[in-house]
Amino acid sequence: MFESLSQRLSTTVQRLRGRGRLTEENIREALREVRVALLEADVALPVVKALVERIKVRAVGQEVLKSLTPGQALVKVVRDELTALMGSAASELNLNVPAPAVILMAGLQGAGKTTTVGKLAKLLRERRKKKVMVVSCDVYRPAAIAQLETLAGQVEVLFHPSQPDQSPVDIARGAIESARKQFVDVLLVDTAGRTTIDQAMMDEIRALHAAINPVETLFVVDSMTGQDAATTARAFADALPLTGVVLTKTDGDARGGAALSVRYVTGRPIKFIGTAEKMDGLDVFHPDRIASRILD
Ligand code: GDP
Repeated sequence: MFESLSQRLSTTVQRLRGRGRLTEENIREALREVRVALLEADVALPVVKALVERIKVRAVGQEVLKSLTPGQALVKVVRDELTALMGSAASELNLNVPAPAVILMAGLQGAGKTTTVGKLAKLLRERRKKKVMVVSCDVYRPAAIAQLETLAGQVEVLFHPSQPDQSPVDIARGAIESARKQFVDVLLVDTAGRTTIDQAMMDEIRALHAAINPVETLFVVDSMTGQDAATTARAFADALPLTGVVLTKTDGDARGGAALSVRYVTGRPIKFIGTAEKMDGLDVFHPDRIASRILD
């Protein structure tokens, strides 16, 4: 992630380091490069504008201009602002409710929801020692239900079968009942996605959310979708009280602006990133490390 952004900023900084002192003019030049670097990293334009504005205010103030090491001072400002945007600490899942803690997954089709349910189930079972159940509310695609059943078997968690003729709300309620009876700690609820945002999907997931009152509502988004990730995030954040984001396919993402955009648009922490197709390809997201990775 963030390769080109990192490279771009390091070139800028090297150039700044070549000068003893900075003028407002060459700070402006450096900020232009920061802006281009962020756009090239696929950060959505409103997010770039907001970030550069904040960096500018500090850069043309005392902090950078008067510094003896302006290059380093500018990098520090950029680092601070990226960190402030991303939130400085890793954000844990909230499982602090009477069992079963229900986690609802939302996102477009193909974002990686079902895969992430499998990965998260594995992580919760192995690392957090939780008893986990998964259920699919995707009544439109029997193949999605079968896919989840296969993954549940693979990661050794309980699978609640769903009938395509049931409503998503009935399926989820049945799963909660069954989870309670079996003393399940965490119930992961997979949902149907469409290839584009549509009202029927949003209405359905909103009704599902209202019926099951999940402690976590995670928006799953494909980091490869770049600028579109921000648009999708906006639509889901408007429809649902999201509690966090899972950014998938970061193994294939050379630019990584989606992380910044989605965080900015939803105001919610990125809790996990998908790093591979396989079931252990899910990592806790560390925003502070990401800022360092951009700049170091
Ligand atoms: P859903 O429609 O949102 O449930 O998406 P799926 O879970 O079916 O995932 C769509 C495709 O993306 C599948 O081929 C997954 O293997 C793949 N995928 C999901 N997450 C990741 C990831 O983090 N890295 C990679 N490389 N592939 C992923």
